[in-house]
Amino acid sequence: MNIEELKKELIEYSQEIGIQKIGFTTTDTFDTLKQRLIVQQSLKFQSGFEKGSIEERTTPTQLMPKAQSIISIALAYPSRMKDAPKSRKGERRGIFARASWGKDYHDVLREKLNLLGEFLQEKMDGVAYKAMVDTGELSDRAVAERAGVGFVGKNCNLITEEYGSWVYLGELITNIPFEPDEPLEEGCGDCNKCVDACPTGAIVQGGQLNAQRCVAYQTLTKGFLPDEFREKLGNRIYGCDTCQIVCPKNKGVDYHLHPEMEPDPELAKPKLIPLLKISNREFKEKFGYMSGSWRGKKPIQRNAIVALAHYKEETAIETLEELMHKDPRPVIRGTAAWAIGKIGRHDARDMIEKAKAKEQDEDVLFEMDKGLEFLTERV
Ligand code: SF4
Ligand code: SF4
Repeated sequence: MNIEELKKELIEYSQEIGIQKIGFTTTDTFDTLKQRLIVQQSLKFQSGFEKGSIEERTTPTQLMPKAQSIISIALAYPSRMKDAPKSRKGERRGIFARASWGKDYHDVLREKLNLLGEFLQEKMDGVAYKAMVDTGELSDRAVAERAGVGFVGKNCNLITEEYGSWVYLGELITNIPFEPDEPLEEGCGDCNKCVDACPTGAIVQGGQLNAQRCVAYQTLTKGFLPDEFREKLGNRIYGCDTCQIVCPKNKGVDYHLHPEMEPDPELAKPKLIPLLKISNREFKEKFGYMSGSWRGKKPIQRNAIVALAHYKEETAIETLEELMHKDPRPVIRGTAAWAIGKIGRHDARDMIEKAKAKEQDEDVLFEMDKGLEFLTERV
């Protein structure tokens, strides 16, 4: 079969198996990305979760020596939750970012990519392929942009014409020399909405993201959350969607094309207090299938405490007090003490002082003092 014909058949097959967008590109080095990564590294803007060296991340042939093309795919995910439960006084809820709603997208996309790879192997002898989704060395966005799937906006998201930026991306490196597609011309124009809306100023003009200042990254760390970000977290317990929500290219975009991507409202927008009491096993059983559980329950619980403080949720005090006294993890004890001070119920000072008298950990003691400071400020 000739390659042009194979490309056509693969595109048809991709639609049959529920892939919304597909594009093809070469295995040339990603030069612009390389320059951007070098600048990012020199400014210390990386998140630290990146895989591979800059060379590997921008040179596809280093990942598969006989590589001749890269196929980029995009699957649209929902941006609105049906029957979303309200966060009410006494029953406050946190929120997972949309990319974490439903089944872990890494699994969903890998399955689709492997189907594409198997399809190619059936049609042609000697086909080799390598599938990547998010955690591989290649930048899914850079591949998708060069393959004409969309353009990268100022918010550093890949934006498609039909599905906005509410898309998961993945790619297949192959040894078939497919004809590449043309990148899109479109861009943000004069719009600057995401830059203005970002709560922490993480989007640096010119499409650079300071990952260290991005709330999405901060929700994943396991240590104490710096005070500045505690103020900005709101009820986010995993990730941040603000720069996508405000984007005009996402206006009215909400696709429900994959049943496995539908959120369970009780998990995507869970009640905060029960989250603080959940066992490891229960956490894994309930949240383990979502991509947002990959860092374990500690960062989620820490963020849940910060969210309860944000709401000044007095019904959480008893649970927070128990954590402050008994939790073996200093980050949780300390953040709970800070939250008790921030919520500021009439008995908060006594509570913190009592726990402080038997606390040994210096970081926790520091947080307790910060909690007491809120109460002093209020007198
Ligand atoms: Fe800013 Fe949130 Fe976007 Fe990060 S995800 S750049 S914090 S708006
Ligand atoms: Fe571009 Fe505006 Fe969307 Fe930001 S909000 S990515 S500037 S279109």
